[in-house]
Amino acid sequence: MSERLYLSPPHMDGDEIESIREAFDSNWITSLGPALEGFERDIEDRLGCRHALALSSGTAALHLALHHLGVGPGSTVLCSSLTFIASASPIVQLGASPVFIDSESSSWNMDPDLLAAELEESARKGQRPAAVVVADIFGQCADYGRIERICRIHEVPLLTDAAEALGARCRDQPAGTFGLCGILSFNGNKIVTTSGGGMLISDDGELINHARHLATQARDPAPHYQHTEVGYNYRLSNLLAAMGRAQLGHLDDRVMRRRGVFDRYQAGLGSLPGIGFMPEPEWSFSNRWLTCVTVDEGMFGADREVIRNSLEARNAEARPIWKPLHMQPVFEECRVVGGAMAEKLFRDGLCLPSGSSMTPAQQAQVIEIVRNCAGSDV
Ligand SMILES: *Cc1c(COP(=O)(O)O)cnc(C)c1O
Repeated sequence: MSERLYLSPPHMDGDEIESIREAFDSNWITSLGPALEGFERDIEDRLGCRHALALSSGTAALHLALHHLGVGPGSTVLCSSLTFIASASPIVQLGASPVFIDSESSSWNMDPDLLAAELEESARKGQRPAAVVVADIFGQCADYGRIERICRIHEVPLLTDAAEALGARCRDQPAGTFGLCGILSFNGNKIVTTSGGGMLISDDGELINHARHLATQARDPAPHYQHTEVGYNYRLSNLLAAMGRAQLGHLDDRVMRRRGVFDRYQAGLGSLPGIGFMPEPEWSFSNRWLTCVTVDEGMFGADREVIRNSLEARNAEARPIWKPLHMQPVFEECRVVGGAMAEKLFRDGLCLPSGSSMTPAQQAQVIEIVRNCAGSDV
């Protein structure tokens, strides 16, 4: 590749800059203004949820939701193990302890059986976790048909981390709308971006009102500066919301393109021995944010690092799939329920360049490089 091919670079259409200019010209420069409210309405309409709150990041959205629930020192929060660290960092920042739950093979997301077993075990000991955080990894929802029911039975609030999954669905219900609340991310590598940003999604007006209060330094309604609790500075800028509105207008196109990328990889690599693809259960519609393959070293004749390094040598970026959180040095002391599935997916899994602006010619080169790795170990 003459120009570096990134894993998932921002994809601009050109109308973003006009949208930003319009917001700029209106002089609503800070974290208040019509674009911000418009962006929230757009997301509410798109997802069919009551409330959306635009924030400076997806991590901030999760932090506010956990804070609202009173998560703090002494609390336990169950969390997916196979995910990006931001699914868990707010748990730790609030002084609570995460317990990591392994994945199931059909969606790679949290295993509902292990979740149920852990909640039953807690109930037997007379304990109840403060919350469950489920990540929808690589653009695919977890099995919410089961997970929502399990959380309801045990009366534990369910928070869904749909940072990677905007545009995906589980049984025709949009990602981000399951459980008590969901979070989205508009970081630069996500399917649509505001350069950096996030959204908290919920039908619970009280939660959203408290989160909005917390996100704006928890200032009480008084002419002077008065505070009865300590908040954060987590609101999204009106300028970035304007960019988000333009980007969101292209979401269907982005989902179609990412799914097209996946299909071309499957057509080009699916027949190679030892190459598997992230499955899509019949109840799932994935946005295919990243195309993830698994490499069986024995059958393929090379491991995922051989592929990754071959791509790197040709200026194309691939990455191992998320290193499970229970394997992270920083979470060494934390409990894990199961773990073997996530460990195996980490050992064998690779994310291929998946940007929605990647050309078919670039992708053909990637496919060629991967094909040439087959048998290179033997
Ligand atoms: C990107 C991401 C986040 C964090 O989103 P930011 O907007 O970057 O804070 C959280 N969880 C997952 C699974 C992500 O991929």
